[in-house]
Amino acid sequence: MGKITILPETTGNPISLIGMRAGVCWGGDTEDPEKNYKRGMDCILSNHGRTMEYVNVEMIIDGYSARVIREWYTHIGGAPTRLQSSTRYINYQDGFDYIVPHAIRRDDEAMAEYTKAMQNIQESLKRLEELGVAREDSAMLLPLGMSTKIVDKRNLRNLVDMSRQRMCTRAYWEYREMFHDICKALSDYSEEWKWVVENLFLPKCEVAGKCTEKKSCGRYPKE
Ligand SMILES: Cc1cc2nc3c(=O)[nH]c(=O)nc-3n(C[C@H](O)[C@H](O)[C@H](O)COP(=O)(O)OP(=O)(O)OC[C@H]3O[C@@H](n4cnc5c(N)ncnc54)[C@H](O)[C@@H]3O)c2cc1C
Repeated sequence: MGKITILPETTGNPISLIGMRAGVCWGGDTEDPEKNYKRGMDCILSNHGRTMEYVNVEMIIDGYSARVIREWYTHIGGAPTRLQSSTRYINYQDGFDYIVPHAIRRDDEAMAEYTKAMQNIQESLKRLEELGVAREDSAMLLPLGMSTKIVDKRNLRNLVDMSRQRMCTRAYWEYREMFHDICKALSDYSEEWKWVVENLFLPKCEVAGKCTEKKSCGRYPKE
């Protein structure tokens, strides 16, 4: 199981911050916490998406597959940034952690085959090291299922948009689990985050009131 660490640079009170920033432009009283909160809520409920871009989220995402992180990187709205564990400098020759899909774990034969494949890669990495092959070259063998670590920075608007796609039942299962872990970590960060997660992080069907995917899970009607 992966681990999400919310870093202290993450905005503590996202609704209040939105209200403070909007208040500057409305000539409002930004010294009053209650007014800031109310103004922030108004912005959110009026769908003034740009105001959500002031809310910063910085986190360490650790122990999920390189494959799911590759999908994470497709969410580029608002120019997020990140650093990822190096495949040149980290020593994977002595072993690497990897994700085992639930469907494989449930099946003894499939599990044995999957484990064997991972061990084979590990043995080849060791052998290539002995043969003097540079790690940046032997790293070509590392599987998409290996777990990795990133330090990620993005804004609230990006995460709200991401929830539309990745809370969809049709999204890749590991992404849905990872997004659930992020929701949990942010909800624990502050009461305002709890409200944001519960009210703004929704799959697209719940917002549209219908399914927009070609192949529907059946949760919402197509039309
Ligand atoms: C069931 C399912 C299957 C999927 N299958 C695949 C797949 O096979 N392959 C794959 O690559 N992805 C797949 N995805 C991921 C998905 O299609 C998107 O690539 C991913 O969600 C990130 O792109 P985005 O536009 O949603 O988000 P972002 O890039 O973060 O963009 C968010 C919003 O910002 C705006 N925006 C962003 N960039 C621009 C721009 N350049 N110009 C103007 N406006 C912009 C748009 O309004 C956009 O909706 C799948 C998702 C689901 C739910």
